[in-house]
Amino acid sequence: MKILVCVKRVVDYNVKIRVKADGTGVELANVKMSMNPFDEIAVEEAVRLKEKGGAAEIVAVSIGPAQAADTIRTALAMGADRGILVKAEGTVEPLAVAKILKGVVEAEQPDLVILGKQAIDDDCNQTGQMLAGLLGWGQGTFASKLEIADGQASVTREVDGGLQTVGLTLPAIVTTDLRLNEPRYASLPNIMKAKKKPLEEKSAADFGVDTTPRLEVLKTAEPKGRQAGVKLGSVDELVSALKGAGLV
Ligand code: AMP
Repeated sequence: MKILVCVKRVVDYNVKIRVKADGTGVELANVKMSMNPFDEIAVEEAVRLKEKGGAAEIVAVSIGPAQAADTIRTALAMGADRGILVKAEGTVEPLAVAKILKGVVEAEQPDLVILGKQAIDDDCNQTGQMLAGLLGWGQGTFASKLEIADGQASVTREVDGGLQTVGLTLPAIVTTDLRLNEPRYASLPNIMKAKKKPLEEKSAADFGVDTTPRLEVLKTAEPKGRQAGVKLGSVDELVSALKGAGLV
């Protein structure tokens, strides 16, 4: 079985996001960038499947600027076998990403594509679903458990109010939720080995995809600051304060 994992380079989740002074977006200059956390989970799941003997090859793909090669190297250090960087500058919206990924899938013919449920920069939560739609493949989104047997994937999904299990015929798309696994840290020897693993470069044009955004960002603003809280002396005071605010 061959697995394609999609890894996006995003602002590190520990960074306190700052909005640019002119409101045109988020400050990216001199900001630490890392692999999208849900994509780390996707890589981890692919590596675990390989370790269990369920996958022959893992290919990590990223669409983004030249620096996205670092994100792919991280995936290679975690255990992916080779990488594909599709170079694209500026914002590439989920539909364009999904169209490029469709091209990669057609070239690579994987049995399984694992993506994160969402990228933490734009929180779109669209790419996996769009890719499944474009390919006409089954999809198991928000996976908290994945089992593969006899050409089938069983995906336990985190849905409102509980868990749902869906059966998919491979090839299929899976998107990861937080509880699927805990990603490993790449060891130093593996980081060194990853430098020698193959990384192919492509462009969006190689897949005939126009990455011009279809959405115009009108304004980016900081969320409103929280108002200071008050300390109350007793439960009775709390209850009357809640009543006063119309909350009980
Ligand atoms: P989104 O739909 O933007 O929230 O992204 C969902 C998932 O799609 C991410 O967790 C990634 O696995 C994948 N993805 C989105 N954009 C990219 C990209 N530029 N390169 C590689 N994978 C991506």
